[in-house]
Amino acid sequence: MTYRPAFAPASGRWAPPLRSLAAALLVAAAGSGCGDDEACPGANEYGVCDISDPACVRQVAEVLGCRREVDAAPDVPIRFTTRDALASELFGSSDNVSDDEILWTNRAYAALANFSLLPPDYRFEAAQADFSATIGAYYDPTAKQIVVVTDSDDSARDAYVTLVHEMVHAQQDAAFGLDRYAREHAYTEDRSLAVRAAIEGEAMTYQLLAEVELEGLSAAEINWDVYFSNWQAGMLSIASETDIPLILASRLFPYAFGGQMVFDRWFTSGRGGVAVALEPPPTSTRQVLAWPRTDAPVPPWNQDEALMDRIAPEMPESYVSLGWSFEGTWLIRAMVERKGRDFGPAEQRAVELIHADVLSLHYEASTDTAVAVWRLSFDDDDARSVIQASLEETSDMQTVVLTGGDLVLIAGGPPNLVDETTPWQALDEARTRLVDFSRPPLWPNPRRRSYRHVGCQHRHLIRHALVRVP
Ligand SMILES: [Zn+2]
Repeated sequence: MTYRPAFAPASGRWAPPLRSLAAALLVAAAGSGCGDDEACPGANEYGVCDISDPACVRQVAEVLGCRREVDAAPDVPIRFTTRDALASELFGSSDNVSDDEILWTNRAYAALANFSLLPPDYRFEAAQADFSATIGAYYDPTAKQIVVVTDSDDSARDAYVTLVHEMVHAQQDAAFGLDRYAREHAYTEDRSLAVRAAIEGEAMTYQLLAEVELEGLSAAEINWDVYFSNWQAGMLSIASETDIPLILASRLFPYAFGGQMVFDRWFTSGRGGVAVALEPPPTSTRQVLAWPRTDAPVPPWNQDEALMDRIAPEMPESYVSLGWSFEGTWLIRAMVERKGRDFGPAEQRAVELIHADVLSLHYEASTDTAVAVWRLSFDDDDARSVIQASLEETSDMQTVVLTGGDLVLIAGGPPNLVDETTPWQALDEARTRLVDFSRPPLWPNPRRRSYRHVGCQHRHLIRHALVRVP
C-alpha cells in the first residue's frame, strides 16, 4: 500500500502511540509436540509462584509453551518498575518533548474535544497521567523483556496470571516478531486496534485458561458467552461514559472483543483455530465487533483505500492541518453515543454499516479555533440517515451529505466551513499542507506498548459465568 508512510509516527498523527500497537503474528512452528493440555511432560500445570524467582518464570514459559504448542521463550527477563518511573520512561521527560510538540498536541486535543472524544481543555500532561494509570505490565518487543509495575496492588496470584499473559506476547514475538506484524498490518488507527484485538485476544485466551485452571475448573464448566457479553457490556458502557474515549480505546476494545474472537476459535478448534484468528488479523474494529455474529467467509470489512483521494476538505487559507486518521467503528460508536440522541439498536446497526471513515483536524490561529471533520462512508443510505438524524437532534455539529452519499460531520468552527461544494484533498496534497509542527515523534518512545491485565476482574466474571452442573 503506497500510503503507509503517512501513518509513521511523525507529523501526520495526533494519537499517542500507546493506543496503536506493537503486534505480531503467528507462524506457529509446531513446538514441543504435546497434543493436548494433559500431555505436557515435566511442566504440565500452572501453580502460583513468586514471579521475581527465575524458576517461576521458567515454569510459566514451559507450561505455556506446551499449551500453545510452541517453544517456550526461555530466559525472558522481567524488569520491575514503579508507576512513576514508567510514566517518565514511556513519555519521556519534559526535556525531550518540545514546547512546539506539546502545543501541537494540545490543539489536536482541542479539535478532538469537539467530537467528545476528549474533554475540553484536555492537555498533554493529562494524557501522560491517564495512560500511565492504566498500565499494570507489558511486554517490550524492543528490549525483549517483560516489564511489571510493582506498585499496583496485585496479589501474588494476580501477578502470576499477569506473567502468563505477558509471556504469551514474549512467545508471539519470538515466533513471528511483534514489530514486524504491526508494520505489516497495523498502519491505520482502525487496523491498529484490530491487530491488537488479535494479539491481545490470544494473550487473553491463555490468561483465561490459566485463571480457570487455578480456580480448579475446566473451560467446559464456564458459559463463555455470558462471560464475554458481561465483560464487553462493561467496556461499552465505560466507552460511552468516560470523558476520554480516545485515550481508553486501546484498553477497552482489544481485550474484551479480541478475547472473544480468539477464545471462540480456540474453544472450537484448538491451536489451529488460534492461528486462523491471527493470520491474517482482522482489518477493522468493525470486523472484530461483528465477530459473534459472523464467521468466514469474511466480507471486505475495511474499505478505507476508497478515501485515500479524499482525506480532508480544502479549508480556508488561514487554517493549518493538524493531521488525519482512519479511526474506525469503535471510536465512531463512542462519538455517536456521546454526541447523539439515545443510542439504541437502530443506531448500533447503523454504526456497524460504516465501512470507511477519515477524521481530519484543523486549526485557525487568529481565532484560536480547532475544527474536526469526520467523513463517513456507509453501506446503505438508511444507515446514514439514522446517524445524521441522531447527531443533528442533539448536538451543534454540522452535517453535510455529499454527492455519492458520504456523510460529513463538522465539529467546531464557524458555520458553513465545509459544504457540498468544498473540494477534498488527496493524501499527497493534504500532506503538503500539514507541517507547521514538523518535529518528528510526538512521543519519545513511540515503539513502547503496553499490555494491560486485570486478573481480579476476570475471576469475578468467570465465577458469574459458571455453569452449575448438577
Ligand atoms: Zn497483552
